[in-house]
Amino acid sequence: MTRSVKSFRSATELFPGGVNSPVRAYTTVGGDPPLMARGAGSRVWDVEGREYVDFIGGYGPLIAGHAHPEVVEAIDTAAAYGGPFGHTTPWETDLGWMIVEAFPSIERLRFVSSGTEAAMSALRVARAATGRELILKFEGSYHGHSDGLLARAGSGLATLGLPDSAGVPAAVAATTLVIPFNDLDAVAVALTRHPVAAVIIEPVIANSGVILPATGFLAGLRDLTRQRGTLLVFDEVITGFRIARGGAQSLFGVKPDLTLLGKVIGGGLPIGAYGGRADLMDLVAPMGPVYQAGTLAGHPIAMAAGAATLRLMDGAAYTRLESLGCRLEEGLRRALPQSRVVRQGSLLTAFVDDFPTLHRRLRSAGVLIPPSQFEAWFISLAHSEDDIDRAIEAAAG
Ligand SMILES: *Cc1c(COP(=O)(O)O)cnc(C)c1O
Repeated sequence: MTRSVKSFRSATELFPGGVNSPVRAYTTVGGDPPLMARGAGSRVWDVEGREYVDFIGGYGPLIAGHAHPEVVEAIDTAAAYGGPFGHTTPWETDLGWMIVEAFPSIERLRFVSSGTEAAMSALRVARAATGRELILKFEGSYHGHSDGLLARAGSGLATLGLPDSAGVPAAVAATTLVIPFNDLDAVAVALTRHPVAAVIIEPVIANSGVILPATGFLAGLRDLTRQRGTLLVFDEVITGFRIARGGAQSLFGVKPDLTLLGKVIGGGLPIGAYGGRADLMDLVAPMGPVYQAGTLAGHPIAMAAGAATLRLMDGAAYTRLESLGCRLEEGLRRALPQSRVVRQGSLLTAFVDDFPTLHRRLRSAGVLIPPSQFEAWFISLAHSEDDIDRAIEAAAG
């Protein structure tokens, strides 16, 4: 390894903030982030050779841990077969059928290369299907960085959104309504006042820390959207194949019209997917008038890594994740009595008053958690009970 990649400071000359995605800059916890060199199972090593138990898991994809032998083998095999081919391959149909079998609401789907693209494309379909332009989303959710989804709440209930990033046209942000999560009354008011094409929601929020849906909220949303001719879009980019094989929709028994997937389904490689009712998906080109395309969409290596990962995710795998999650949740409650610990399966947040101190304490004990209070901790099949206990002990200080 050359000297030039050994310091974060050199990265700051190349990339804005030294990173290719903002959270990696450690802005809220302070200090320079380590540069990472390698991962295996539940462990990662930085370029100085320091070892950490990793609870970032690539921010979601690595449900089987780093460099799982079956995933690595699938990637090697796919790479040796060549491609991408600019044609459909069995790699795509294999992964496609696995998804359709796990998600009964998905009759047809399309692969893209990121969750951002999946969200943007699904909303284009929803607008085409309904002939309406407005989208309703919830405070605290994240659906990628497309212009219209970088909107924040306007000044009052059911008002049009304001830009939440420089460079987002006000007119585009105003096509998004932003209302509080878990507030069915606000949804009812918004859908009554405005013709809304789609409600998009993280059914379990994982991008403001973990926030669970109130009892009956998702079912109520299903009823209200159906009454108003509004489509319901579940963003399961994090929750899909993570909190249950069939995602939040299987856990809570609510069937959306369209679903977004990403992260786990690519086994650590760039991926996204959107799918749902066949009549809606048949609006997509070349079947229908909604244009959407991708040079690297359905890339064989990503398909192979995803399929190898999903093959590992049987009933026993989810039981294991639940048991590890439960151990971490209970341990952190004991270690951090002032905190509020929220968990769904292998997604967890410990809400604390002084997050930077917690992060630093864990990091110096060789435990790496996301450098933000608002990113979930990710548990993988590679974690051991000892890994979990080490995090708990480190948190206690
Ligand atoms: C990560 C994420 C996205 C965006 O996916 P990218 O692949 O980063 O573009 C969208 N929605 C949710 C819920 C996510 O967690």
